[in-house]
Amino acid sequence: MTNKSSNQKLIKRFIEYIEIDSESGEEEQFAKRLIADLKKLGLTPTRDKIGNIFVNIKGEAANAPTILLNAHIDTVTPGKNIKPIIKGDKVQSDGTTILGADNKAGVVAIIEALEIIKEEKIPHGNLLVVFTVQEETGLYGSKHIDRKKLKADFGFVFDGGGPETIHNAAPAQKNIEVWIKGKAAHAGVHPEQGINAIKVASEAIAKMKQGRIDFETTANIGIISGGKATNIIPEEVYVKGEARSHNPQKLKKQLDHMVGCFKNVCQKHRAKLKYKIIDMYPSFKIPAKHKIFSLASKPYTLKPSGGGSDANMFNKYGIPSIILGAGAHDLHGVKERLSIKELVFGTKMIVGLIRQCSKKQ
Ligand SMILES: [Zn+2]
Repeated sequence: MTNKSSNQKLIKRFIEYIEIDSESGEEEQFAKRLIADLKKLGLTPTRDKIGNIFVNIKGEAANAPTILLNAHIDTVTPGKNIKPIIKGDKVQSDGTTILGADNKAGVVAIIEALEIIKEEKIPHGNLLVVFTVQEETGLYGSKHIDRKKLKADFGFVFDGGGPETIHNAAPAQKNIEVWIKGKAAHAGVHPEQGINAIKVASEAIAKMKQGRIDFETTANIGIISGGKATNIIPEEVYVKGEARSHNPQKLKKQLDHMVGCFKNVCQKHRAKLKYKIIDMYPSFKIPAKHKIFSLASKPYTLKPSGGGSDANMFNKYGIPSIILGAGAHDLHGVKERLSIKELVFGTKMIVGLIRQCSKKQ
């Protein structure tokens, strides 16, 4: 096949995939299409209880490592009724939705690579392809994955941006949920009898270090809600935030600081405080000299990621895993775009990786 027609096939598949809605928790229609496509390749996909899709492809080289190829099949919102527009090398949405290149660029690159190794009879070792559900909702799919089906020596998660960057580290994240209870009173008649929960929360948040704390730590208060009417001193406020760090001690320190701000201010104003810390995912770091990098095609730059992905969980499960890209950019917003050139390159990279892994390590 010529380069041009194979690229067109790749784009056609990408467009078809993003036109099937698959917001987190509503991936079934897309999962069915993917399973049909895998079966067309002569493969036997299986699923676990929560819907993750697995394909084991046996290799001919006895001593080659088993490699895990992963992408997630859910998208963030607004991801319904996506209308892609192709402009030169770019694919974008019409501006009312996301594009869904996160992570369907990765899904397409994996499927196309599997097709290429089949058509061109490229020798390979054992492959484990895993398409995860509900990654965008706090890695729910990989957190609840059937671990018995997850046996591999190295993991490659195609959930990055440009294919020339490899993420070999990602932060841990913890969320904080806070409920502040003050005292309701009539705002015009008895304001001195009330304790304004909104004011208490604002004072605590204003004192809090947020944003980029240092080169490897961030924090953010993202949700605040409360109050009923202008003539009532608000009794209750709910606040939700997060902290991330590549360093577990720094993550703990930042969370302690955030909790401390709420505690001090609530005590000062005699408001009641309830809070909960939620462990979202652990951090990971794969050193540059690790064997896994001998499998990736050069040139590339190593860069820590600012966010969590299924790689965080795979590393936790003992499969050294890194994050590669297949051309998705400006993720999680209506300006999301795909670089066709990079998707083509990402697909070639997967084929190269599979070829490289066919040899004894
Ligand atoms: Zn993603």
